[in-house]
Amino acid sequence: MSVSDTPLQPLSAEQKACDVLVIGAGIVGAAIALRLQREGRAVLLIDRERVAAQASRGNAGALAFADILPLASPGILRKAPRWLLDPLGPLAIRPRYLPHLAPWLFRFWRASRGDRVRSGTAAQAAMMALSAAETPLMFAAAGASEMLRTDGMLHLYESNAELRESEAGWQARADHGIAFTHLRGPGAIAELQPGLSPALVAATFVPGWKTVSDPLQLVLALARQFEQSGGRLRRANAFTLVPGAEGITVHLEDGHSLIARRVVVAAGAWSHQLARTLNEHIPLETERGYNTTLPVGAFDLKRQLTFGGHGFVVTPLECGVRVGGAVEFAGLDAPPDFARSAVLLAKAKRFMPALKTEGGTQWMGFRPSLPDSLPAIGRSAADERVVYAFGHGHLGLTQSAATARLVADIMSGRVPPLDLAPFRPQRFGSARVLPLPTRHHGETA
Ligand SMILES: Cc1cc2nc3c(=O)[nH]c(=O)nc-3n(C[C@H](O)[C@H](O)[C@H](O)COP(=O)(O)OP(=O)(O)OC[C@H]3O[C@@H](n4cnc5c(N)ncnc54)[C@H](O)[C@@H]3O)c2cc1C
Repeated sequence: MSVSDTPLQPLSAEQKACDVLVIGAGIVGAAIALRLQREGRAVLLIDRERVAAQASRGNAGALAFADILPLASPGILRKAPRWLLDPLGPLAIRPRYLPHLAPWLFRFWRASRGDRVRSGTAAQAAMMALSAAETPLMFAAAGASEMLRTDGMLHLYESNAELRESEAGWQARADHGIAFTHLRGPGAIAELQPGLSPALVAATFVPGWKTVSDPLQLVLALARQFEQSGGRLRRANAFTLVPGAEGITVHLEDGHSLIARRVVVAAGAWSHQLARTLNEHIPLETERGYNTTLPVGAFDLKRQLTFGGHGFVVTPLECGVRVGGAVEFAGLDAPPDFARSAVLLAKAKRFMPALKTEGGTQWMGFRPSLPDSLPAIGRSAADERVVYAFGHGHLGLTQSAATARLVADIMSGRVPPLDLAPFRPQRFGSARVLPLPTRHHGETA
C-alpha cells in the first residue's frame, strides 16, 4: 500500500467504477485527492505514469506566497525583447513553435493592460492568502510538517537601478499586506547569505516566503497518506471524457473505460486535451523550465535565492542544491535543450563563486500556463460534474493546498472563501460547448 517512487499498479478490470475520479497525480491532483478522501468521498486517483511524473517532480520548491504579480505586465513586455535576443536567455521561443503560440501570446499581451494587471493581482493576492493559510494544514494532513521550511527568500540585484525598477512591484505587494525588507550593500546581504559575489549590491528579503525540503517527497507523502486514508491510486491514461446519465465515462488508452460520478481534471500541461474532448477549448500553454540539482554540500546555502534579472533561483533541498528557472515556449513534444540548464548553472557560478558545479542532474519540466497567470479552477461548462483544476504556471506547488480546498468547496456546494470568478476556466471566452447528446438528472453539487 505504501507509495514509493516506482511505477503505479495498473487499474484492474474490477475497479472500473468510482465516485470521484481525479486525473493526474502531480502536486495539484494529489492534494485534491487527499482532501476529498479526508472529507469522506471515495476517490480514485490515476496517472498515466507515476506520482509526480512531470512538473511537480523537479520544481524549485518555493511556496512563493509573495508572487502575486501576473507575468503579463508592462514590465515583462519591456524586458522581453532583450531577453529574446539571447537564444539561451531567460525567455525563449522556438521559432517553429511561434505560429502555434501566437493566439496565446495575443491573450498574454491583452492581459498585460494596466486594469487587468490590477484585477489579476488582487485575485492572485486572495489566492495566495488562502494558500498561505491552507499550506501548513496540507503538510500536516500528509504527515509532512517537517518538510515545510520557513527561512524566507532573498531576491538579489546587480545594481541599485534594478532595485529601483522593481519598487512598483514591491509597493503593489505591500498594498496587499506582504512584508519585505530591502537590503543595501554586500555587507548587509552577507548577513543573510555569505559567499555571494560583490557584484550583487542590493537585495530584498521576504520573510513570509517558504520552501519545501523536496517537492517530489511532498507529493509522495500526500499520495501515501491518500492511500492510507482509503483512497485508490492506479496507473491509467485518460483519453476522452463522455458525459452520460450514469456518470462521466472515461475512455482509457488501453481500450477500457471507467465510469465516475464526478471527475477532477488535474493533468497539468495536458489538461486542455481532456477538456477538448468535452468540446471546451481552454488556452493552456506550457512554459518549459530547466534546472540542475547539484549534490548536497555544493554550496552553503542559507535560504532560497532569486536572481530576478536572470530568471533563475537557487534552492537548498534535502537532495542537494537546485539551480534553475527560465521559460521556453516549445510545446509538449519538442525534446529538451539542456544547454539551458548549463547556462543557468554557469550564471549561478558567477554570482556564487564557491558553488561546486560538478555532479549535477539536469531536468526539464512543463509548467501549465494560462495567459493571465491565474489557474483555471471551476466546473466545466459542458458538464457540471467535471471540475477543472489546472494552469497554475509557475505556482502549482504554492497554490496546491488552496486549489484542493476550493475544489472540495465546489464539489460540496460550500461557499468558497474567495471569489472564483477570476479563475473561471471559461474566462477567455474560448469555450465552444456543443449540445450534449445525453441528459443527466438527479446530480447535485
Ligand atoms: C523549472 C520549474 C520550476 C518551478 N518552480 C516552482 C516553484 O518553486 N514553486 C511552485 O509553486 N511552482 C513551481 N513550478 C511550477 C510547478 O511545478 C507546477 O505548476 C506544478 O507542478 C503543476 O502541478 P500539476 O499537478 O498541475 O501538474 P504536473 O505535475 O505536471 O502533473 C500532471 C500529472 O498528470 C498526468 N497526466 C497528464 N495527462 C494525463 C492523462 N491523460 N491521464 C492520466 N494522467 C495524466 C501526468 O503524468 C502528470 O503526472 C516550477 C516549474 C518548473 C518547470
